[in-house]
Amino acid sequence: MKVAVIGAGFSGMLAAYLLEKEGINVTVYEKQEYLGGHCRTLTTINKNTELGTVAFFSKAIKELLIELQIDYTERFVYRHFLDENYNNVEHILGDEVAMLMNELGRLKVILEKYKDTLETTNYGNIHPDLLVPLSHFLKIYNLNTVYHVIVPYLSSFGFGNIEYVQAYYAFKVFNINTIYTFIQGEKLLFIKRGTTELIQKLSENISDIRLSLEVTSVNVKDNKVTVDTLYSSEEFDKVLITTKLSTNVVKDELYNGLMQKIITNPFITCAFEVNNKKLATTYYKSNLGNKGKIQFFYTSRQNHKTTLVAYAYGIASKKIISDITMDLSHTGIDIKHLITVKQWYIFPHLKNEDLSETFYEDIYRSQKRSNIWLIGSLISKPELGNLYLSIRKTIKELID
Ligand SMILES: Cc1cc2nc3c(=O)[nH]c(=O)nc-3n(C[C@H](O)[C@H](O)[C@H](O)COP(=O)(O)OP(=O)(O)OC[C@H]3O[C@@H](n4cnc5c(N)ncnc54)[C@H](O)[C@@H]3O)c2cc1C
Repeated sequence: MKVAVIGAGFSGMLAAYLLEKEGINVTVYEKQEYLGGHCRTLTTINKNTELGTVAFFSKAIKELLIELQIDYTERFVYRHFLDENYNNVEHILGDEVAMLMNELGRLKVILEKYKDTLETTNYGNIHPDLLVPLSHFLKIYNLNTVYHVIVPYLSSFGFGNIEYVQAYYAFKVFNINTIYTFIQGEKLLFIKRGTTELIQKLSENISDIRLSLEVTSVNVKDNKVTVDTLYSSEEFDKVLITTKLSTNVVKDELYNGLMQKIITNPFITCAFEVNNKKLATTYYKSNLGNKGKIQFFYTSRQNHKTTLVAYAYGIASKKIISDITMDLSHTGIDIKHLITVKQWYIFPHLKNEDLSETFYEDIYRSQKRSNIWLIGSLISKPELGNLYLSIRKTIKELID
């Protein structure tokens, strides 16, 4: 079997790695001149700054890190929350804690009903009750404290405004165990030399990677798939797509239609060198989910230098970067200079009006009979630990 993988992000690289382990010939196509997609570490002299994926929330990934002999560390992340006047405020107030515990107990019981829908590795059948914005769902059950607790995390994950994100996607990422993990402040897992090392190690085991070759057409004919780039054309038995492709790239009515429904949120990270020495990860409570506004920042200190990485929604512009810089100054951050700005498109998902109960199940049904498969964050929650489980599952199904 000859397989093409479109996209050399974590999903594509892991899929290719697993297929090659099974002795299957794989060709990876990547439109950029670098590997890794949203896993991107900026490496300067003895200093690593994550511009994309920072940490792992699920311990499942350890297995892969050990297999690839990648050093990792597990540590606590301390968090601050700021109000609209840049004053430190509690995540929730002391007297709300009892309320939160009560609400979480109720939420646990409520979500039991949706267990089948929520506990699958990949997106699957969606219970109709979860096809409403998260804010709406939480209001119905009067879960106001839960709302305040999970909004900062959802917005920092790139899910945007919870007035719009569906309860289904939100609870796939923040199931009840994850919410408890966050409020109990459990340790997160970090790759010591940065997530680029993970991609690098995967790439050492993949024999055919094509860079700076954007796939412009995927066409199925006579049980073979032709993959075209601007400069080449090649035939495969199967094509695995890991990323949203532009309109009419996939020459198949069904898949092209599916692709058009998948949307992403524009998300920016910008890194600064700052003079402050010790800064905890900080969330801007009044900005959460709002376009053009700083959502949160984290910092790292290496070689006597502090790097601060700030996140915002929107398309990078001088105005947004200047607004972020101002917000940081008001927070008491002493900025030395801007290091870099990176534009991302994050969290492939469907709009309210396009998401149906059977959307993902319909995809799986048709891809069982097709030479084209959608994999990775197109069909699974985008957290890397979960992507690892999802890709492993998909590759097993493909081989079987
Ligand atoms: C700022 C930021 C912070 C994050 N933090 C975390 C975190 O801390 N923990 C966590 O678990 N997750 C985090 N994530 C999410 C995580 O990074 C992503 O969900 C994950 O990396 C997605 O990997 P992927 O391979 O599915 O997709 P991508 O990384 O998007 O890879 C898709 C690849 O396809 C390529 N491509 C696109 N079109 C074409 C084409 N036509 N032809 C060829 N190639 C093409 C792209 O260039 C890209 O390299 C973060 C994301 C961002 C942006």
